Amino acid sequence: METLTERLAAVRERIAAAARRVNRDPATIRLVGVTKAHPAEVIRAALDAGLSDIGENRVQEAEAKIAALAAERHRLTWHLIGHLQTNKAKKAAMLFDMVHSVDSLRLAQVLDRHAADVHRVAKDRLPVLLQVNVSGEATKFGFDLCGWDEQPDIYERFCADVEQILTLPRLEVRGLMTIAPWAPDPEQARPIFRAVRRLRDDLAQRFPAIAWRELSMGMTDDFEVAIEEGATMVRIGRAIFGER
Ligand SMILES: *Cc1c(COP(=O)(O)O)cnc(C)c1O
Repeated sequence: METLTERLAAVRERIAAAARRVNRDPATIRLVGVTKAHPAEVIRAALDAGLSDIGENRVQEAEAKIAALAAERHRLTWHLIGHLQTNKAKKAAMLFDMVHSVDSLRLAQVLDRHAADVHRVAKDRLPVLLQVNVSGEATKFGFDLCGWDEQPDIYERFCADVEQILTLPRLEVRGLMTIAPWAPDPEQARPIFRAVRRLRDDLAQRFPAIAWRELSMGMTDDFEVAIEEGATMVRIGRAIFGER
């Protein structure tokens, strides 16, 4: 049985190898350890092993762990990666350092309002990513961009929302996030990741005032392919913490 430290080292080595295959600097890829369904002690152990970016997909579940680890707050960066309901946006704005799962204009507006209410100590703006769905898989949240490169109206509708989101004073849009549909072969996710990167490149031209630096994509089953296609953040649970 491998230890957490060993599994973490193995994942970091795989991240570095994938980066080197495409001549990327491994230091430009941030590893977010996904600890949903694991208790706060596991997060503490991860922190001791050198992992400080933690991803949770539910506000309620994260709230208890963030409270339990309050003493380590300054050493941890909390990422909300799961779907966020508007009625939990206030809590999310208070608890998290970054929200990867902004998937509608309405949610962005509500988050912005609450990010203004809460006195954010570290930053005056809440970093967010826009979650996009380019595969059309019905079970995935995200702005619906299936077929965006062939159907201009889909892209234009999204750009109209983006334009409004970029006016929100308390949000700092840093890029895109996606979840590829599960497939037995990670190569099947490659066109999805490639499409999201292309979408990001288009947005960077269209909205040059912001950097669109981050691409949050890749999980246990497909993170190496995601890195080869430009991921700057990978969200990894099972490969580090074991099966849930
Ligand atoms: C659970 C989850 C992950 C991590 O999944 P693993 O397959 O355990 O690596 C990544 N992103 C999101 C949005 C998740 O919900």
